[in-house]
Amino acid sequence: MNYLSTRGGIEPVGFAQAVMMGLATDGGLLVPEHIPQVDAATLTQWSTLDFRGLALEVLTLFVGDEISREHLRTLIERSYATFAHPEVTPVVEQDGLRILELFHGPTAAFKDVALQFLGNLFEYLLERDGGQLNIVGATSGDTGSAAIYGVRGKERIQIFILHPKGRVSPIQERQMTTVLDANVHNIAVRGTFDDAQGIVKALFNDLPFKSAYRLGAVNSINWARILAQTVYYFYAWGRMAQGDPGRRISFSVPTGNFGDVFAGYLAKRMGLPVDRLVIATNRNDILTRFIDSGSYAVSDQVYHTLSPAMDIQIASNFERYLYYLYDGDSATVRALLEQMQRTGQLEVDAARHAQARADFDAVAATDEQTLAQIRETFEATGYILCPHTAVGVHAARGRSDTLCLATAHPAKFAEAVREAIGQEAPQPPSLQGLMDKEPRCTELDATADAVKGHLEATLATGTDA
Ligand SMILES: *Cc1c(COP(=O)(O)O)cnc(C)c1O
Repeated sequence: MNYLSTRGGIEPVGFAQAVMMGLATDGGLLVPEHIPQVDAATLTQWSTLDFRGLALEVLTLFVGDEISREHLRTLIERSYATFAHPEVTPVVEQDGLRILELFHGPTAAFKDVALQFLGNLFEYLLERDGGQLNIVGATSGDTGSAAIYGVRGKERIQIFILHPKGRVSPIQERQMTTVLDANVHNIAVRGTFDDAQGIVKALFNDLPFKSAYRLGAVNSINWARILAQTVYYFYAWGRMAQGDPGRRISFSVPTGNFGDVFAGYLAKRMGLPVDRLVIATNRNDILTRFIDSGSYAVSDQVYHTLSPAMDIQIASNFERYLYYLYDGDSATVRALLEQMQRTGQLEVDAARHAQARADFDAVAATDEQTLAQIRETFEATGYILCPHTAVGVHAARGRSDTLCLATAHPAKFAEAVREAIGQEAPQPPSLQGLMDKEPRCTELDATADAVKGHLEATLATGTDA
């Protein structure tokens, strides 16, 4: 399978190159040349497979012959052996509540589903094709730990994760800094998340530095992350439809960068009988406003909410949807994004807006509604939602046959849960004892030069400078 850029500026590349590239060199996002189709008989057959078997079938369609089936099977086995639940992503039904639990990975958030696979995939491709990768990223919480756990101990990969000192939750900080593998380098910058992100951007924009130090990213625009997330839509459908290809199911998806809900859209385009896809956002509601109005307009600020992993101003994967909305017309996609760059806003025509409304519903939840949902669900069912999941459950109110994606374990967001129900969720084993473990972290000034110097010294000596 070959991959193209949403902006049309690259020659087609194969799967391995698309994964290593991350962002297309013309600034666009990589998309497959065509979307593979899955017929009803195949769906019925797939619905008997376990998560790993299903992952092998779905991924094979997009990998083509670039990785042998046996190697792919091994990568999948290794990636999901770290999950605490035998089903990997189980469906839970309790007193009318329907939840797809995506938080049984090592960092108790759904990003593990994709990043455990991406880490193994990077390692395999670097070993096979030769090379080294130095991953650099900034995090305000969940992504950093999931990325670190994805690549810890891997050959040919070093990872540097910047977080704003004292501004991530204690659990999230400990999840990152207590991973003591030699290839993991945590940096606490004396500044804000925006400072940390600005430094990472500056490093990537310094092209000589970027290529000399083989910098790579693990952000949510990597195609392999989307693919790994597509698997659980098929899996959940199989559990609920029990092989009846006529059964249509809706999904409510807590959304920030549009990665998770785009994976659902992809599954639907492949032929999965999805009824409605509900985009659930918090107060940072650029996507909800787009579905309501047809105008995609950046707001004047990022609001800090109880669902911080969704506190995002611009949804980076939205460009992929625009590409499909315009039937692969990359010239128009490029023009719309240039308009967005210039004016902070883009608009689609009435027909496209109608199509977007046919593709998605969208609901935004306030913090008050989020807390009320955690409380109401707990009182009705005894089940404890994390605040992100609660946004999705709120968005699904009054809908039948809707499965809500649970994106994090509630114990990760203990304060919000306590505020809602006066108690905390019991911690899963992966979060226990974190505060007693030994941390390792380097503190630096919030400047690109300080971080560059640290990277150079660490890579030269092989230990944290
Ligand atoms: C990252 C994250 C989200 C948002 O996922 P996107 O792919 O960015 O839409 C939702 N919930 C949690 C807990 C997350 O970590």
